[in-house]
Amino acid sequence: MKCAIIGGGAAGFFSAVTLAQKNPDADISIYDSSKQFLRKVKISGGGRCNVTHSCFEPKELALHYPRGEKELKGAFYTWQPRDTVDWFEDRGVQIKTEDDGRMFPVSDNSQSIIDCLHRQVVKNGVVLCEGVGVKSLLHEEEQFTLGFSNGRSERFDRVCVATGSMKSSSLTTSLEKLGHTIEPLAPSLFAFDITDERLKELAGISLENVSVRVKSNGKSQTGPILITHRGLSGPAILKLSAWEARQLNESEYQFEIELNWLGGRTETDIQTFFARMRNQKGQQFVKSKLFDELPRRLWEKILSYVKIEGTLQWAQLPKKLEAQLIKELITATFQVRGKTMNKEEFVTCGGIRLKEVNFKKMESRVIPHLYFAGECLDYDGITGGFNFQGAWTTSYIAGTAMAEKQV
Ligand SMILES: Cc1cc2nc3c(=O)[nH]c(=O)nc-3n(C[C@H](O)[C@H](O)[C@H](O)COP(=O)(O)OP(=O)(O)OC[C@H]3O[C@@H](n4cnc5c(N)ncnc54)[C@H](O)[C@@H]3O)c2cc1C
Repeated sequence: MKCAIIGGGAAGFFSAVTLAQKNPDADISIYDSSKQFLRKVKISGGGRCNVTHSCFEPKELALHYPRGEKELKGAFYTWQPRDTVDWFEDRGVQIKTEDDGRMFPVSDNSQSIIDCLHRQVVKNGVVLCEGVGVKSLLHEEEQFTLGFSNGRSERFDRVCVATGSMKSSSLTTSLEKLGHTIEPLAPSLFAFDITDERLKELAGISLENVSVRVKSNGKSQTGPILITHRGLSGPAILKLSAWEARQLNESEYQFEIELNWLGGRTETDIQTFFARMRNQKGQQFVKSKLFDELPRRLWEKILSYVKIEGTLQWAQLPKKLEAQLIKELITATFQVRGKTMNKEEFVTCGGIRLKEVNFKKMESRVIPHLYFAGECLDYDGITGGFNFQGAWTTSYIAGTAMAEKQV
C-alpha cells in the first residue's frame, strides 16, 4: 500500500510515524516543498517548543479551541495531552510542566522534539522528500495521482494532507475541484498595535488580571497582559485575538478596546474605596499607591493623564477628577490600529471545512482514503500548547486510519 503525506511539519511527521508503526508494510513518503522539515517546531515556543498543555480532560481541553471545539472534543478521547507526553517520554524526551500548565521538553530546546520525530521516521523506514512540493492531487480509479514541483507525478493508494495553513495554491485548487471547501484564512494569536501616550515608556510592565473588551461586540477576556513597545500583548490579548479572529479581521484591525486595569474590581468597589480614602485618609496624597495589582509607574501615568498633581490630597480631589480617574482605571478606551506578530506563537484560522471531514478517522467525507491532519483544518487553539496538541491528535487519528489494511 503506497501512502503519501503532504507536508513535513508536526502533523505530517506524527501521522507518518503512527501509520508506519501500525502498518509496517505500508510504503510511506513525506513530501515537503521547503528544504527544512519541522521548521515551525524549531521556532515554536520561543525555541523551546510548547509541546502540549497539562489539561487531561477532553471536554475541558476542547474549550481552548475557538474553532473546532465540538469536533476535537471527540478526537481528544482517542489522543490527548497525556498520550502525547507518554509518547515522547517513551522515546526518551522528558517533558516538564510550567506553573501556567504549558508543557515543554526538559531540555528547553525544540531540537529535542525535532530529533525525536526525525529518529522515529527514519527508524520506521519513512522516505523523506524535502524540497518537493505537491502541485496537484487527482483522484481516479480509487487512486490518487500527485503532481510534484519537480515535474514528476506518482500514484498512491492513500494520501494525508498536512500542509499547515491553507494558503491559496494549485494544491488548494485541486482540493476544491475534488469537492472540498476551504474556509477563508485569518490570523489568530496576535498582539494589538496601539500608539497612545498612556502606554508610552511603560514597555515591559505586566499585570496579572486585566479585563480587555472589544467595544464593538462586547466580547472580553480577563488575564495577564503585557505592555510592549508597540502596544499590548500577553495571554488576555492573545486569547481575545483568537476568539475574535474573524471579527477583528473584518474590521481590518481597526477597533476600540476597553481596559479594566483592575480586573475584578467594579465601579462601585472603587467609589467605596475612594470615599474611604477621602474620609479616613484625607491628608494623604492621591499619588501614594493604592492598588497592589497596579504597578506604580502605570498608576502615576494614569494620574498624570487625568491631570492629578502629585501634591493633591484625597480630601481635595474634586468629584469630576475622581470620576475621570475611575473611568481611566476601569473603562479606559484605546484605539487599536493593527496587529503585531506574537513571537512565541502564531496560527491561522480557516482551512478545510470541518463538516467535510470524519473526525473518527480524519478522512474526507467527499473522497475516500484522503485524510487531513493539523493546521490545514479549520480549527485553532489559543496559545499554550493547544495548537500542537491539535496536530498530534488529528495526525494520530489520521495515521491510524490510513494504516488499516486494504480489503
Ligand atoms: C512562531 C510560532 C511559534 C509557535 N509556537 C507554538 C507552540 O509553542 N506551541 C503550539 O502548540 N503551537 C505553536 N505554534 C503553532 C504550531 O507551530 C502549528 O500549530 C503547527 O506547526 C501546525 O503543524 P502542521 O504540521 O499542521 O503545519 P506546519 O508546521 O505549518 O507544517 C506544514 C508543512 O507543509 C509544507 N507544505 C505546505 N504546502 C505544501 C505543498 N503543497 N507540498 C509539500 N509541502 C507543503 C510546509 O512547507 C510545512 O513544512 C507556533 C507557530 C508559530 C508560527
